[in-house]
Amino acid sequence: MHEAILYEPLEKKAVRCTACKIRCVVKEGGVGVCGVRQNKDGKLYLIVYGKASAVNIDPIEKKPLYHFLPGTEIFSIGTVGCNFACSFCQNWDLSQLARTLRERLMKEKHVEDIELEVKQYGYHLPPKKVIELCLEKKVPSIAYTYNEPVIFFEYLHDISTLARPHGIRTLFVSNGYESEEALDMASGYLDAMNIDLKSFRDNFYKKICKARLQPVLDTIQEVHKRGIWLEVTTLVIPGQNDSEAELKDIAAFIASVDKNIPWHISAFFPAYKMKDVPPTSRAALEKAYDIGLEADLNYIYLGNIQDEKRSATYCPNCGAALIRRSGYRPWIESTFENGACTRCRTQIPGVWQ
Ligand code: SF4
Repeated sequence: MHEAILYEPLEKKAVRCTACKIRCVVKEGGVGVCGVRQNKDGKLYLIVYGKASAVNIDPIEKKPLYHFLPGTEIFSIGTVGCNFACSFCQNWDLSQLARTLRERLMKEKHVEDIELEVKQYGYHLPPKKVIELCLEKKVPSIAYTYNEPVIFFEYLHDISTLARPHGIRTLFVSNGYESEEALDMASGYLDAMNIDLKSFRDNFYKKICKARLQPVLDTIQEVHKRGIWLEVTTLVIPGQNDSEAELKDIAAFIASVDKNIPWHISAFFPAYKMKDVPPTSRAALEKAYDIGLEADLNYIYLGNIQDEKRSATYCPNCGAALIRRSGYRPWIESTFENGACTRCRTQIPGVWQ
């Protein structure tokens, strides 16, 4: 097991994990809420260090990131475990595995055995090997995704520190619970984030995700303030977060931070504990798109649904279509060059090279 760097010692061999905003106090032998950070003899260890459970090379549009090196591939990696417990999680088999194990082992009063159980999942992939694969496949960036990255911070930190000298960029696809300490420590390599803003109701976060809204809003503001490229995603779930009032609140919040932050509005498909909820209708997604326009957001995209008109990037000044997309495949129009609209010279925010 690998000793964590984001924690502080407390009395009686307890520790406080400082990776995410839950800031678990973990007693000797215990495990944090995410199920992958364990206290052994007064030290915190990351159980899943070097243990990848999902690895793929994806189009960057799949993350989704639309204003960051469009049309490139991204090495995507995740482990098991999560600090949230979203009932609609689309990757629940990975994300909820360690959490569920922790809860079972706590009931059975032998939570200290979690290391043995969790270690069975995933395969050995040390940081150096990740870099070798990226270089071999000529992939320009790495995304920590599939489950919440910050819970396996020490693993990603070592990968990204090795990646930096090779010019390989780093992205987090996150639920927005990073601690200030984690953001500080990642500041040398973290180039972009896509943060889920799952709802604008604290009750939704409490009931459905076992989390809170305000820390996510704080992280979005903080990440933007730090100048990390940021895109925001909302999965629209029928009957749960799709009221006009709530979507207006989300759009208004994003616009209050920066109307140039891209807002991805994604279609929900029944999964995990929400198999009885129908998929999002096209009409609901289109309505959300219009709400984004009314809030004066400059870049709004529908996802998980084929809609070329509403997944294109338009110049906010002259309306020219700059990047069109079909599925995960973008094509750059002649109206877009060096990050600017060639018709009116408006600079489009993002990382284009
Ligand atoms: S990363 Fe895990 S152990 Fe650390 S504070 Fe968050 S939930 Fe708790």
